[in-house]
Amino acid sequence: MDEIHIKNLEIYAGHGVYEKENRNGQLFVTDIILYANLREAGRSDELALSTSYGDVSRFVNRYLREHTFRLIEAAAEHLARELLLAFPLVEKVSLELKKPDAPIGLPFSYVSVKIERGWKRAYLGIGSNMGNKREFLDFGLQEIRNHREIKDVRCSQIIRTAPYGGVEQDDFLNGAVALKTLLSPYELLAFLQETEKKAGRERKIHWGPRTLDLDILFYQDFVSDDEKLTVPHPDMANRRFVLEPLMELCPGYRNPVNGKSVREMLTELGSNI
Ligand code: ATP
Ligand code: MG
Ligand code: MG
Repeated sequence: MDEIHIKNLEIYAGHGVYEKENRNGQLFVTDIILYANLREAGRSDELALSTSYGDVSRFVNRYLREHTFRLIEAAAEHLARELLLAFPLVEKVSLELKKPDAPIGLPFSYVSVKIERGWKRAYLGIGSNMGNKREFLDFGLQEIRNHREIKDVRCSQIIRTAPYGGVEQDDFLNGAVALKTLLSPYELLAFLQETEKKAGRERKIHWGPRTLDLDILFYQDFVSDDEKLTVPHPDMANRRFVLEPLMELCPGYRNPVNGKSVREMLTELGSNI
């Protein structure tokens, strides 16, 4: 990806653990790298197709002056998020926040934290088989769309499926959702579980009836086989109701565990199930 660099931007602000630091302020120096596709801006010579380094510098200056954090870790974390939200063409940001006058009492040139944050692509499974299923799906989708740290939400067609997993229950409505998010995989899971709860979901039997089920199918190329969060979703290759909606959103997306694309998994599933 292309990069825009802002080096040694100097800002006078009040971040620190000591009250004196918050009150008097001190110098902070930041290095910023914005990752974005600059091709269109380069070809057209149009600023509107790029991200203005002047606007970014003034944004960083204002943000660090208007907010007070104890830790430079927190200042960097919040600033990175706000930059990604404010400048939509930026896919990823690298931020180093340096504090040359930190109260250490020994000679040094500066202390700093450096972080990299960006939009991550994720795919979700969405399902319901209780009550007004369509309304529960719409509610779930609306909550997802309303989340500040989620964007570019697309939902597949909703399909009707017979229940899965051997529990006697009503038919399902199922779909898949594509999105980009600033949330980590575990933060995304927590938000989805909160949304299921708001939709009145009660966990009684595994694979039993539910008002709303929101599962993480893929999160970029993240892999985890923790019980709390298994990604990619371990059973997707056996589920037509997962693969068919995914096929509409991302046929070429490869499962980072077995290297198979959605299209290949669906073909292999054939007419079983
Ligand atoms: P399945 O995951 O087989 O579709 P389910 O969706 O019915 O089953 P739930 O009752 O919704 O299962 O969730 C059970 C637990 O699964 C949750 O407590 C959650 O922590 C865990 N879990 C593990 N991996 C994931 C994932 N990728 N997405 C959502 N929940 C997950
Ligand atoms: Mg599920
Ligand atoms: Mg689930």
